[in-house]
Amino acid sequence: MRKKIKILIAVGSFLFLLSIGFILLLGVSRSSNRVTNKIKQLIRNNTCSKEYPLPQLKYLPNDKLIDYKDEVRMMGVQPVKIKANLKGLIKKQKLVPVPLSNWAYALKIKDKEMRYVIPKTREILYQISNNFKKRISKSDLFNAKLKVTSLFRLKDNNPASSSAESAHKNGCAIDISYIEFLNQYNQPLNLDQYELKYLQLSLEKVIEDFQSQRRLYKTKEFGATSKCFHIVPRN
Ligand SMILES: [Zn+2]
Repeated sequence: MRKKIKILIAVGSFLFLLSIGFILLLGVSRSSNRVTNKIKQLIRNNTCSKEYPLPQLKYLPNDKLIDYKDEVRMMGVQPVKIKANLKGLIKKQKLVPVPLSNWAYALKIKDKEMRYVIPKTREILYQISNNFKKRISKSDLFNAKLKVTSLFRLKDNNPASSSAESAHKNGCAIDISYIEFLNQYNQPLNLDQYELKYLQLSLEKVIEDFQSQRRLYKTKEFGATSKCFHIVPRN
């Protein structure tokens, strides 16, 4: 008889524990469903988590080189064939050096001689990168910097995606990546999709504001190796 009672108690406790386990499992799966749904909703709404309030963009269309190439010719330098010919332009300060990095951007341009632009273009780079930093200053990504991938180019340097009349050859253009951002040591940041989206849209918003104020021309490039904003200041 005692044995039977013991067995009954054992079976009873087993069933009791089983049902508690089942209830717990149900709770976990429900809450994980809630998390998944929340992520799905965030993706659908094209928004980030609370820490990253996304700016409202107008998605202004690209400016076209044909519309501003005369302006580029006027404010820029004549295209240069060889590096040796850059010296005169640098001496006359028609072309000015762009520091390798500061708190807001870093250049990823190997060739030292290609780190030059006209003064107006350097100024717009400083303004874009400083405003970008101000925008992200209250987020946990405040250390992020812009990556500049191209400044000056020689006359015969024609990357596949670049126009023969590219404003880079007049020292007027800068390319700023929107696919990669850098940390305070100028190394690529490892970002999740929400962080990347936040930085991308913050940069785009800064550029779009300047474009609305008619202070620059913008071309958002989607090439496989050129996911960048091609920027030329207005004269
Ligand atoms: Zn460009």
